[in-house]
Amino acid sequence: MNTDSDSKNFGQLTVLTIYAHADDEVLPAAGTLSLMSKAGWNVRCLILTDGSLSSSPTKGTRHQEADAAGKIIGATYEFHALEECNFSTQAVIKVAEESIGRWQPNLIVTHTPQPEKYGHRDHEVCAIAVSNVATRKNISLWYSAPPVFLRGFEPNFFVDITSVIEEKVAAIGCYESESNKAFMQLDAILVLSRFWARELGQKDGYFEAFEISRQCVDASFFTAIANSH
Ligand SMILES: [Zn+2]
Repeated sequence: MNTDSDSKNFGQLTVLTIYAHADDEVLPAAGTLSLMSKAGWNVRCLILTDGSLSSSPTKGTRHQEADAAGKIIGATYEFHALEECNFSTQAVIKVAEESIGRWQPNLIVTHTPQPEKYGHRDHEVCAIAVSNVATRKNISLWYSAPPVFLRGFEPNFFVDITSVIEEKVAAIGCYESESNKAFMQLDAILVLSRFWARELGQKDGYFEAFEISRQCVDASFFTAIANSH
């Protein structure tokens, strides 16, 4: 565990994802997180709830599934026990601030704020609270694509995940307890990844889409952009 503080000394970048439920992180972002991990980022996934109300019959199953997914995409998980469908923005702010204090993330990724009639109530509360914290602490923030109903989501950043699409599929496959959900089906995952490619006018490949809510960069950002073409 001392590697975290050690790696900070070498300037390692950290991404912190904050999602309401385990599996929310892999559907929209497993490919991107895997690429970040391969590029040397420290990938931390914070899950607000422990899954006791999920379709999983055994409490703790989702923890094991998340850990298995984390091994594939190079992420480590941190679970909290906020009550599903009943937590407040204040509770999320507290948890997020604690975790931010611990990991000093360079980037936060969370749910897209969506009107409740389209999104899950927990996603909306999480998105609003995390946006509040990221703004106050001046941390870059990306919103990830909602699993269904894209209303309210305006993607402006697309990541080519073609090289890691198999890892994404495998990471999602770790969540066996959730595999009955329509948007967890393999064809749905691939179709959405291809949909984003079409959005970019690309005939081939798989992509993940994000909406950059706020982004702070240093001068090396432009070198990275130049090297990516
Ligand atoms: Zn969720």
